[in-house]
Amino acid sequence: MSDRAKERTVAPGQNSGISCRDRVRGCLLGGALGDALGAGIEFLSLDEIRRVHGPAGVRGLTAAYGVHAPITDDTQMTLFTAEGLIRASVRGRSKGICHYPTVVWRAYQRWLATQEHPGPPADTESDGWLTSQPLLYARRAPGNACLSGLRMPRMGTPAHPANPNSKGCGAVMRSAPFGLLPTGPEAAWELAAECAVLTHGHPAGYLAAAAFAWIINVVADGQTLVEAVESALGRLASERNGEKVAAALRAALTAAADGTPTTPERVESLGAGWVAEEALAIAVHCAVAAPADPWTALLAAVNHSGDSDSTGAICGNIVGTMLGEGALPADRLAELEGHTLVRQIAEVVPVLRTVIPMWDN
Ligand SMILES: [Mg+2]
Repeated sequence: MSDRAKERTVAPGQNSGISCRDRVRGCLLGGALGDALGAGIEFLSLDEIRRVHGPAGVRGLTAAYGVHAPITDDTQMTLFTAEGLIRASVRGRSKGICHYPTVVWRAYQRWLATQEHPGPPADTESDGWLTSQPLLYARRAPGNACLSGLRMPRMGTPAHPANPNSKGCGAVMRSAPFGLLPTGPEAAWELAAECAVLTHGHPAGYLAAAAFAWIINVVADGQTLVEAVESALGRLASERNGEKVAAALRAALTAAADGTPTTPERVESLGAGWVAEEALAIAVHCAVAAPADPWTALLAAVNHSGDSDSTGAICGNIVGTMLGEGALPADRLAELEGHTLVRQIAEVVPVLRTVIPMWDN
């Protein structure tokens, strides 16, 4: 039996045979796969997608930004989220105390540097491992709120958030790693929200990120996606400004309630995904509509007129966490730009379980 197969036989949570490591790899690689699948059609309407790629739209990985199957800002920032959490966890363990949002903000400062410099500095020793990776210096349409929020001289906080009117999907699309923390959904929610306001201060912007982290955390524990969304809706009910995100999530479930395969038109009924709650809703809807078939879910999540790479990335995070890397198409993953880099980070994230004892698998 292969090591990976052995891992899959070890029950990590309450009711599944998918290991924690497989789910973490699935989350990050699935996100990168959805990101790359949507990269070439991010700025095309559905009509244009059909004209270029045929009536069924994109069916496989394509070229964009001058390379085949590129990852974009969504995956780049997600990797920096993961790096920030790894650093914060290790620091908390060694020092006994750590303010996680500050450490994540510093990780995002390093991401910002990748977007403002042509390549790695000569000495990366003190600046983290990711800043030594040339691929992360490629500019792949980074979001304006992410750039401007991180350029502020002081970090945004819940009391004084950066960009208080921004609710673009830039905070959601980078927030899956918060859900991988072994701390339970409430802590994942709070940390995701607090790190979302580093760039997106509108309630829909940071609450969608919080709800996403909650959903990832609950499905990582072995519950179904619908159960995870329903519990996130319960959590949103306690937020004064939670209704917009809650309404989007309810619409996502309703649109999949008849159990039939979804369509681009049904996906577009949920919005375009440029704003946070719509991006989360489209991703959730496509994953619920194809619960055992991640590739079908990803194709649905990108073939629409909106923010295809972000909706693809969020959907990929969800289906990869649900089903593990073993359920993702290995041949497509091998095509993916940066798959080795993503895999390297995915191998480190489970180290968090050794520094946070509650995560016991
Ligand atoms: Mg992108």
